[in-house]
Amino acid sequence: HAKLERDRISIFSPEFDLNTVERLRLLADLRIAIDRGDLDVVFQPQVELAGSRVVAVEALARWNHCTRGPVGPDVFIPLAEDSGLIFRLTTVVLERALAQLAEWRAAGHDIRMAVNLSARHLSDLGVPQQVALALRRHGIPASSLVLEVTETAILSDPVRADLVIRALRAHGVTIAIDDYGTGNASLSYLRRLEVDELKIDRVFVSNIRADGQDMIIVRSTIALALELGLRVVAEGVEDEPTVESLRSFGGVVAQGYHLGRPGSAEAVERMIVEANGA
Ligand code: C2E
Ligand code: CA
Ligand code: CA
Ligand code: CA
Repeated sequence: HAKLERDRISIFSPEFDLNTVERLRLLADLRIAIDRGDLDVVFQPQVELAGSRVVAVEALARWNHCTRGPVGPDVFIPLAEDSGLIFRLTTVVLERALAQLAEWRAAGHDIRMAVNLSARHLSDLGVPQQVALALRRHGIPASSLVLEVTETAILSDPVRADLVIRALRAHGVTIAIDDYGTGNASLSYLRRLEVDELKIDRVFVSNIRADGQDMIIVRSTIALALELGLRVVAEGVEDEPTVESLRSFGGVVAQGYHLGRPGSAEAVERMIVEANGA
């Protein structure tokens, strides 16, 4: 057992850097998992607090390693990004997400689907066309797809990112700034980029009941963003008092364990039916 434990610690604790051999092994396994269709996608609801309706879901990748068990996205996403495998991974996630959305739309659930993009996608001018083709193939209006990008990803190649984002928006796809507040982008910068949605990072949201400063930051960011005509999603909503505070700010969409954990399509569909009606 000693060896097993040691492997566990070195591979799965984020505070330990993966050594080169471990990285290569895990990367090879990830490539195989993607090829075999072993990667899973789960969905987490986003709830419009005013009407308690599910208005969107975020697609999140999951990998259950055949011998090691679940490997967290915090481990395998950076691996995929560094190696370029992130393009194939994202193609899998986007395909699953759009197929699921098509199914939900056919059942009368008019919700949006959010999918995460990485920095690599924002420096690839072929991405907008690829996304547009996937939407057409699934018969989904572009406005129903939200692509989430981080400030950090944008700032790694801002000129190219600007072009890619503009092209995506020209197709009608909407863009969300993920983890908002943790990077350095100013609101005026985002305004120039013309994004559609801000997702306020959970480090601010999860603390608003305990920390007056976080409350002020979240409240004023929401007010500013709404006045600029952006949608606002508050991430990391973990309890009812936070829901009540956010609801009092008006016009906010919330995502977090308290409203629904990431789950299977079936589990999330039950929640959509319950909240929105069949
Ligand atoms: P993210 O895009 O910010 O996704 C939200 C993360 O917060 C998810 O973790 C979700 O499970 C977690 N979360 C949701 N509600 C709560 C809450 O109330 N409290 C707390 N503490 N956490 C909450 P997950 O699924 O482990 O994903 C981690 C990160 O991995 C994501 O952060 C995203 O950056 C990346 N990721 C996951 N799937 C994909 C993907 O398909 N493509 C790309 N490029 N990145 C992905
Ligand atoms: Ca996200
Ligand atoms: Ca986030
Ligand atoms: Ca199904």
